[in-house]
Amino acid sequence: MSQIHELSDVLADQIAAGEVIERPASIVKELVENALDAHSRQIDIIVTEAGLGQIRIIDDGDGIDQADVAIAFKRHATSKIQSPKDLFRIKTLGFRGEALPSIASVADVIMTTATGSEQGTEIHIRGGETITMKPATARPGTDITVTDLFFNTPARLKYLKSPQTELAQITDIVDRLALAHAEVAFSLTHNERELLRTVGNGNLQQVIAAIYGNTNAQKMIPIETQDPDFSVRGFTSLPEVTRSSRQYISIIINQRYIRNFQLTKAIIQGYGSKLMIGRFPMSVLLIELDPVLIDVNVHPAKKEVRISKESQLEGLITMAIQQQMAKQNLIPDVLEDF
Ligand code: ADP
Ligand code: MG
Repeated sequence: MSQIHELSDVLADQIAAGEVIERPASIVKELVENALDAHSRQIDIIVTEAGLGQIRIIDDGDGIDQADVAIAFKRHATSKIQSPKDLFRIKTLGFRGEALPSIASVADVIMTTATGSEQGTEIHIRGGETITMKPATARPGTDITVTDLFFNTPARLKYLKSPQTELAQITDIVDRLALAHAEVAFSLTHNERELLRTVGNGNLQQVIAAIYGNTNAQKMIPIETQDPDFSVRGFTSLPEVTRSSRQYISIIINQRYIRNFQLTKAIIQGYGSKLMIGRFPMSVLLIELDPVLIDVNVHPAKKEVRISKESQLEGLITMAIQQQMAKQNLIPDVLEDF
C-alpha cells in the first residue's frame, strides 16, 4: 500500500514559511522588497505591537492586475524570472515566489492593489485559505495588512523574543532597506510613533542622518572607487567615531543589503591601526557589479550571497578606505602650512 503522498499546498507553504518567515521583521522585509521591485517611490510601513498587532505596508508601485492577484499568492509564482538562465542575472530583490504564499499561510492577510489601468482588487486570505476576493476602488499601488501572525503555528509564536527585540529587528531591516534605496521615501511608524522618515531624493548622506543622526552623518567621509568589475561608493566614519559592534556597517550589493564577514573585515582593515581593538566604524557601502558575478540563490532570505572575485573586491574596499584615511591625516598639516 502506498504511504507516500504529496503535501497539501497550505502545508507546503507553511514549511516554506518556516524558512523565510521567522519573525515579524521577515514579513516587513519581504513586503518592502516587493514594493521596491514594483518601482515604488514612497513606502509607508505601519506596525503595531512589534508586528504582532499588525504590519501594514502601503506603496505607490505598479500594483497587480486583477487577473494576477490570486496567482501572486501561489507558491513559486513570480513575475520576476522566467528561465533557468535568469537565475544567474537577478536584478530584482525577489524571485523565488515564496513570500506572499508563505505569509498568507501563517497569518491573516488583506491586500488591496490596483495598477491604475483597471479597477483594483481586494483579497482576504487567512491561513492559506482565500476568504474573499472582490473588485475594489483603490489608488495605484498596493496596500497590504498582515494580522494574527502565526495564529496557526503556535510553536513559532513561542520562539519570538521580547517586543523590544522584535521591534529592533524591524527597525534594523527598514534602516538597511532605506540605506539601500535613498531614491525611495520611507516612513516607519510603530504604535503611532514615527521611527523613521526619509525623503527619497537619492541623497545617501541624508538617509544616514535620518538613521544615525546629523552629528554622526557629518563625521562620515565619502568613499568612491572602481575597477573594471566593481564600483564602490558610500560613506565611512572618521576613526574617532566608532561603535562597539559591527552592526553599524552596511554592505549593500546591487541595492540588496547583505551580510558578509570578509567584506566587513576589508572595511575594518582599511583603518589599519587607527581603530582600537574591539571598536568598529560606521560605514555604508553601496557596491555595484554585474549580476552574473553574484549568486543570490544561496540563502532563502537572501541574507548571504556568493560573490565571484570576492578577494579583488575586498582589496578594492580596503585600499579606498586606506586612501581616505591617509588624506584625513594630511588635513591638519596642510592647514598649518597656511
Ligand atoms: P517574488 O517577490 O519572489 O516574485 P512574492 O511571493 O513576494 O514573490 O510575490 C509574488 C508576485 O506578486 C511578485 O512576483 C509580484 O509580481 C507580485 N507582487 C507582490 N507584491 C507586490 C507589490 N507590492 N506590488 C506589485 N506587485 C507585487
Ligand atoms: Mg517577494
